[in-house]
Amino acid sequence: MTTPDMHATPVTRHLVRHEVFQTSLMSALLDGIYDGEMTVAELLGQGSFGLGTFNGLDGEMIILDGRCWQMRSDGGVRPAKLDARTPFAVVTNFVTDISEAVPEHSLRSDLSKLVDSLTLSPNYLYAVRFTGEFDWITTRTVRRQAKPYRRMVETTDNELTLTFEHVTGVMGGFRTPVYEQGISVPGCHVHFVDDARTRGGHVLDFQMASGTVEVCLGTDLRLSLPRTHEFAEADLAPANLEDELQRTESHR
Ligand SMILES: [Zn+2]
Repeated sequence: MTTPDMHATPVTRHLVRHEVFQTSLMSALLDGIYDGEMTVAELLGQGSFGLGTFNGLDGEMIILDGRCWQMRSDGGVRPAKLDARTPFAVVTNFVTDISEAVPEHSLRSDLSKLVDSLTLSPNYLYAVRFTGEFDWITTRTVRRQAKPYRRMVETTDNELTLTFEHVTGVMGGFRTPVYEQGISVPGCHVHFVDDARTRGGHVLDFQMASGTVEVCLGTDLRLSLPRTHEFAEADLAPANLEDELQRTESHR
C-alpha cells in the first residue's frame, strides 16, 4: 500500500516562484482615486519592467530595463521624474521563460492566441514583452485630471487616440487572470513606446509586422495599498465593474 501523494502534480511543482508587485487597484482608479503615495523611485525598487499611470492620471507609464517613461496626452514622451507618484502600477523583474518569433503581420487576436498557447495555464500571471516592428499600432493616453476627480469612465471619452504606422518599439505589460478583475485589468494589458522613445501609450489595437514575444511567468502577487483617506473611502465593488473596465481599458 502506498500513501497518497498530497503534492501538486509535477507539471507545476518545478516552477520557480516569481513575484509581480502592484500598487493600488484598478477598481480604485475606476472610482477616481488618481493620487497614490508611491514614488517612481520606490516603484523601480520593486521591478525593472512594467506599466501604470501617474498621479492625476498624468499620462501612461511604461518601465523598460529599469527606466520609467511618461507618455503624456500632448503626445510627448519623457523620462519620469523619480519623485513623481503613481496611483496604479504593476512591475516585475522580467526573466524570460519563453521566447518565440512572432508570425509576420500578426493581429492582436493572433498574438493573444499565441501567448495563450505558450503559457502553462491561464491561472498564473504573465509579464509579456513584444519587441519588433509594427505595421500599425493604436494607443490612447489618459489626460491629466483636475480635482474634484470624476470616475474614470467619465474621463476617457475625449482622450487622445493615436495610430502610428511602420514603427519599431516595445510593447510591454501583463496577461492577467480573469479572477483579478477589480485588482487589475483582466486579459492582456500592454503599453507601447517606440525605439526613439518619442511616441507611445496604452495599446488598444495593433498589427505586428515581425519581432519577438517573451513571456515571464508570475506565481506571486504582492499588493501594496495606498494609505490615503481617498483610498480608504473608495467604492471598490461597483455593480458595473466589468462594463467600466471594458469601457476604460478596451474601448469596447
Ligand atoms: Zn494601460
